[in-house]
Amino acid sequence: MSHSEISPSNAHRWMRCPGSVKLLRKVPPETESSEDASLGTRKHALMAQFAMLFQSSLSIGLHPTDVVAAEFFKSNPLATDEMRDGIFGNQLVEYAEHLMCNPKYGGAPVRTEIELPLDLSSVSPGMRGTADAVIYSHDDTTIEIVDYKSGSIPVTPHANEQLMLYLIGALQMTTDGLCKHEGAHIMTIAQPSVENGPMSFRSVTVPTDKLREFLFNAQLRATETRILKNPIRQPSNEACRWCRAKAICPEYHEWVSADVLIDACHKEGYAKISDQLAKRVLDNRKSITALIKSCQDYAVGKLNGGDNFPGYQLVEKSGRRSVIKSDAVTHELMFLLGPDALEPTGVGKLTRLAREHNVNLDFAITRGEPKMTLEPIEDVGEDFKTEEENENEND
Ligand code: SF4
Repeated sequence: MSHSEISPSNAHRWMRCPGSVKLLRKVPPETESSEDASLGTRKHALMAQFAMLFQSSLSIGLHPTDVVAAEFFKSNPLATDEMRDGIFGNQLVEYAEHLMCNPKYGGAPVRTEIELPLDLSSVSPGMRGTADAVIYSHDDTTIEIVDYKSGSIPVTPHANEQLMLYLIGALQMTTDGLCKHEGAHIMTIAQPSVENGPMSFRSVTVPTDKLREFLFNAQLRATETRILKNPIRQPSNEACRWCRAKAICPEYHEWVSADVLIDACHKEGYAKISDQLAKRVLDNRKSITALIKSCQDYAVGKLNGGDNFPGYQLVEKSGRRSVIKSDAVTHELMFLLGPDALEPTGVGKLTRLAREHNVNLDFAITRGEPKMTLEPIEDVGEDFKTEEENENEND
């Protein structure tokens, strides 16, 4: 079992569904990370780099306002133009100030560890983690774990397994350790309040006895995951949400009532679906969408890995069209369309305006890179013969 299979960042899953770890080994690896994920990784790295710069500036006696995010961005290869022009610079400063100039610790810099490696072998042999930041009060009575999330879906620090594990790791590094440390244990999520909005810092305090209880439960679940031949699979919203094994997980299928959905599809016409069946489908709509997405990812993974997937193939499709955002294009559109060009415009609207004004606006539209897309094979051949064909063959 590799160390990353049981880690703090996926504790929300293996602690609820220990059987997921084994099942996930049967799922083809992700071939490419999404654009969102790579942007999140860049933001994460920039937050840490800026916090370290801020910290070293304070340590040589500079004032916090002397550390200017715009200067930091200038030659940083991780920063995009959008980050340089947008509110992200303010978020960097807000994050660094929370770590190092926090009024709740008297406003003056306190001891703060950034990107602190943690040894969590007390939970599971070989388990490691890296805390984005750990703040210690001057007298070491308070310890605060801070985790930065770049995504727009709000994450709560309440009973957050990843943060609880980081807290355990950080406490075990103090002289008192987890057993004796009776000070305040704080877990904080730092996340933009809305996309491109100011940072929000949501904190909860965890009593020591809760942490001990959690540690015991985490040890138990990690052991089950490692040593049982068939650890249980237990679907739940929290466990299954990001689990890539949905396509091949019988427990998940049953839980989202996949057979209910198939039943509904076979009714051939909405009028024939009863209110009860429609309600069951609607009750499960999020899970059903997630199941379809997971099946697509599974099939794409197999085809990308050179395996067959019955009835489907990868087909190159032309990239998505979008409106070019540049001063030259905006200027030209203004000239051709007048004030209409100032409104936010998508490709559909631009095409309509081109028709209405009888002008060619192709210069304002660009097309993204072609993408490989999962498509059903028209002639399904050997894999999917009709019953009649099968019977003829057998005669
Ligand atoms: S889909 Fe849900 S139930 Fe199935 S393995 Fe993943 S987390 Fe467990």
